[in-house]
Amino acid sequence: MSTLAGRFNEILSRIRAAEVRSGRSPGTVRLVAVSKAHPPEILREAAALGVEVFGENRVQEARAKAAQLPARIRWHFLGHLQRNKLRQALPLFEMFHGIDSLQIATDLDRVAAETGHFPKVLLEVNVAQEASKFGFTEQSLAEEMERILALPRLEVLGLMTIPPFCEEAEHSRAYFRKLAVLRDAMEARFAVRLPELSMGMSGDFEVAIEEGATWVRVGTALFGTRSGKQWRPAQSDFLDA
Ligand SMILES: *Cc1c(COP(=O)(O)O)cnc(C)c1O
Repeated sequence: MSTLAGRFNEILSRIRAAEVRSGRSPGTVRLVAVSKAHPPEILREAAALGVEVFGENRVQEARAKAAQLPARIRWHFLGHLQRNKLRQALPLFEMFHGIDSLQIATDLDRVAAETGHFPKVLLEVNVAQEASKFGFTEQSLAEEMERILALPRLEVLGLMTIPPFCEEAEHSRAYFRKLAVLRDAMEARFAVRLPELSMGMSGDFEVAIEEGATWVRVGTALFGTRSGKQWRPAQSDFLDA
């Protein structure tokens, strides 16, 4: 029978093996355990096994869970951030994977100045140019990078992408490679360091590591499927403390 401990250890060894295979130093790839929709009890179990970073995509849900987990746990925000959630998100999240427009970057910078934070951010690039997805295009990123880098509060650490869904992991490789190439181009053009690449999910994280991922975001392979058990915080958690 598969247990959380068994799945966690298997994912860690697959990450290590992919690092070795691709000539990466062991420990250079870090795991975001994507815990959205799963209840706090499961996260506590994962934390006890050694998970250090959880990834969530709803601010209220993450806040409710954080109150029930050890303070050493770090929280990363994944995906599209709503403008009206910035003030609540800033004190909780160590990193924002998925800053997807100049507008939200500017808003986050302004609110961070008010709250006294210096958020670490990864810019989301829609490398496949899918109409259904958020993110910069390669072109809009190049056009807006200068203005984003000038925002005094944001610590821009790298890029993030979600390739088109496909059962076959190899299909993601070209998109991951594109993101890495784009990162190199942005570093050269704007004379900045963008060391982080957030790419790879349950179905394709090993391919992402081979293409240079420094953060892999794994949900289903660790916690199982999310369908039918969407944990939601109690109504009282939506009230501001
Ligand atoms: C849900 C989610 C994941 C995790 O996906 P799995 O296929 O369950 O591993 C990763 N990244 C983002 C941005 C997500 O929203």
